[in-house]
Amino acid sequence: MEKLLANQVALITGASSGIGYGVAQALAAAGAAVVLNYHSHAEAAEKLAEEIRHAGGAALAVQANVSDPSQIEQMFDACRAEFGTVDIVVANSGMQKDSAIADMTLDDWQAVIATNLTGQFLTAQAAVKEFRRRGSRPVSKALGKIICMSSVHEIIPWAGHVNYAASKGGIQMFMKSLAQEVAPERIRVNSIAPGAIRTPINKSAWDSDAALKKLLELIPYGRVGNVEDIGNAAVWLASDQSDYVVGTTLFVDGGMTLYPGFADNG
Ligand code: NAD
Repeated sequence: MEKLLANQVALITGASSGIGYGVAQALAAAGAAVVLNYHSHAEAAEKLAEEIRHAGGAALAVQANVSDPSQIEQMFDACRAEFGTVDIVVANSGMQKDSAIADMTLDDWQAVIATNLTGQFLTAQAAVKEFRRRGSRPVSKALGKIICMSSVHEIIPWAGHVNYAASKGGIQMFMKSLAQEVAPERIRVNSIAPGAIRTPINKSAWDSDAALKKLLELIPYGRVGNVEDIGNAAVWLASDQSDYVVGTTLFVDGGMTLYPGFADNG
């Protein structure tokens, strides 16, 4: 049977670690050629690219800072040079710089907004331009697919993390507004909102017994998520199986957004 994403090209930003790494593995396993963007960890991205090629897939690692428009342009040039175009773009890069409001520097605010929100804007803008440039391809019903990596914090307030929560709240309306704008061209834009996924970004939340116990109180399903949970969701959202799914946030969170604090009568 032909693989779900056969003959398609996927670009994943922030693919050298965590969720981006897992999403890249999943999209490659589903048959897509993958472009692995990394910011600073070339070795991890090159190693994953090599593993994918070794397994019979196609992969290219490309360095770019997603908050820099000229580097985004070079990254899309690299996609075109290697694979001709791109069909699936996962805007995943993100970071946290946490502190209480009085201690948060303007630099900490701006750095998080620049990567998490402006970075997704620049990535999605370049994706739309590329989909329009190359026109329809027989590989998918959609002209192109964009997946924004959001968070449960697009709706759950998060004290001590106002920059991060604001960036993800911004992604919610950015994604929906863009989806509305480009849906008539058959470009599908959606988000994945992970709950607590075991990655470097939130290591302190799961790497001790006490922290893990506290974290699990927030997750009705009773386990921390793994990057495969997000990879599986990304494959579905990128494929024609979700062809009628437009402008939706898919929460992959073990029920974190069910407000478990209210389970015992509040
Ligand atoms: P991570 O730290 O492993 O991955 C983040 C990636 O983004 C890294 O590869 C990093 O190099 C890259 N990055 C950072 N700044 C960049 C820039 N300027 N240009 C290009 N790349 C840059 O953490 P993760 O958990 O895998 O996070 C991936 C995404 O998932 C983020 O958007 C994060 O907000 C989101 N998310 C994660 C969780 C979780 O529980 N892990 C929950 C909700 C949302």
